[in-house]
Amino acid sequence: MTLERIVQKLDELEKEEGKLPELIQFYHRIMQIQAGVGNQLEKPSPGLTRDTAKERLVQGKPLLEASEFTFDWTLFQNTLREATDVFSEFSHFFDLTPEVFRESPPEQLISRDSIEAWFEGKEIPSTEAISQDVIRELIHAAVRPFLMNYAGTLIGFVEQETWRRNYCPICGGNSDFAYLEPENGARWLLCSRCDTKWLFQRLQCPYCQNQDQNDLSFYSDDDEVYRLYVCEKCKRYLKTIDLRKAGSEVEVSLERLLTYELDVQAREYGYLPVG
Ligand SMILES: [Zn+2]
Ligand SMILES: [Zn+2]
Repeated sequence: MTLERIVQKLDELEKEEGKLPELIQFYHRIMQIQAGVGNQLEKPSPGLTRDTAKERLVQGKPLLEASEFTFDWTLFQNTLREATDVFSEFSHFFDLTPEVFRESPPEQLISRDSIEAWFEGKEIPSTEAISQDVIRELIHAAVRPFLMNYAGTLIGFVEQETWRRNYCPICGGNSDFAYLEPENGARWLLCSRCDTKWLFQRLQCPYCQNQDQNDLSFYSDDDEVYRLYVCEKCKRYLKTIDLRKAGSEVEVSLERLLTYELDVQAREYGYLPVG
């Protein structure tokens, strides 16, 4: 689903319900920025042939490496500034004051090397005032439309039945949401970074890869639309929507945001989010 579509859905929701919960307001604003940028981007050249893509996937290598991920730096910086304004407005989410973002502007701290480090999950330069986690969130907010643009081009190379790994076939990111297919209940993971969807076995933890069924279970709500898959070995959880119950009209990337109460519940049960 495109970012624009998610923003439209949130616009509609806001009209229907009046004021949206604060966390959703935050994401709504961020996604408006991302959708605006996404609309300006040309499709990137994949830089891969079908054969080289296949070779990479067979070796378990995602299709996009940090060094291949290029984008308009000026546009990125503008996006970063806009995202920083929203972060500043909702600074209490990060236990910060709005002044912090003015006094140490993230745009001066975040370099091309920071993006590469973010992409590879390595340490990113941060400051006393703004933590690594906040910098990571900011980079994600600003880089997402560029990354999703690559994902839209590269997804055509992915053969779902042969991938089935616990990281994204496009960018190598972890999953933070899943859905069960309406037809047969097969489980698809959603990339936390680029929204790519990929098929993954239901009876395995997507974080530590544990397959011991004694350590794996799920909680579900009364109408069985949502599931919280949990793993006793690594203590991680995965929010999941069952499209056999919810119907296929549901926008999965949006459900990830709307189910924030499940995150609260999971933490109360003692499980941790990914990343
Ligand atoms: Zn990804
Ligand atoms: Zn696990």
